[in-house]
Amino acid sequence: MALIVQKYGGSSVATPQRIKNIAQRVVKAKREKNKLVVVVSAMGDTTDNLIGLMKQINPDPPKRELDLLLSTGEIVSAALLSSAINAKGEKAIAFTAHQGKIITDDAYTKARILRIETGKILEALDKGNIVVVAGFQGITSTNTITTLGRGGSDTTAVALAAALKADICEIYTDVEGVFTADPRIVPEARKLKRISYDEMLELASLGTKVLHLRAVEIARKFHIPLHIRSSFTDEEGTLIDK
Ligand code: ASP
Ligand code: MG
Repeated sequence: MALIVQKYGGSSVATPQRIKNIAQRVVKAKREKNKLVVVVSAMGDTTDNLIGLMKQINPDPPKRELDLLLSTGEIVSAALLSSAINAKGEKAIAFTAHQGKIITDDAYTKARILRIETGKILEALDKGNIVVVAGFQGITSTNTITTLGRGGSDTTAVALAAALKADICEIYTDVEGVFTADPRIVPEARKLKRISYDEMLELASLGTKVLHLRAVEIARKFHIPLHIRSSFTDEEGTLIDK
């Protein structure tokens, strides 16, 4: 039995129908005899909309309150996906960062994960649950909510994969993998089948928005194989593993 961490980005959970489709994928993977932890981002443009909302209230908000506000987006996705999985007849349970004990420092809006206390998640997995975790958020040692920086759900997923010693971390997105250029802009861009952590780090630092930089750093450090693939097809994506 493999332990798989899957992460679904904002576009993959943007609508109720897409959440139901993701639930179907997750249930299929679970029935192939895997243990599954699923990390979700906020639906569609939720995070941008929440930032816009806050700006109307206070153009320079306290960062602590901004993080508290932004953390709600991922909680919505986690509760909905867990419920969608339950509707398909598999047991699932959703965790916030607080419930899943994802401990960070207190650098609001760009917090770093210090450790994950995996007891509760492992217990839920052992009871046969699919565990759905709200991405992008953490909790300080004094119980204040933080966020990990834009795109930070990737980092939640890879850090969880490292802490749980997962066999693989699958990052589902709206492109079919890592390309030589952005396929939405450059039509002749080629999909890369397999690249190294260092090559991926270079792409991420050059501004390729496929993966959060910190996520690649953690994957390299703990040798977590990453599979970047589309949530809209069954195509093999890009494997990052050497
Ligand atoms: N929802 C957050 C963002 O839009 C985190 C993420 O998508 O990974 O930046
Ligand atoms: Mg997002």
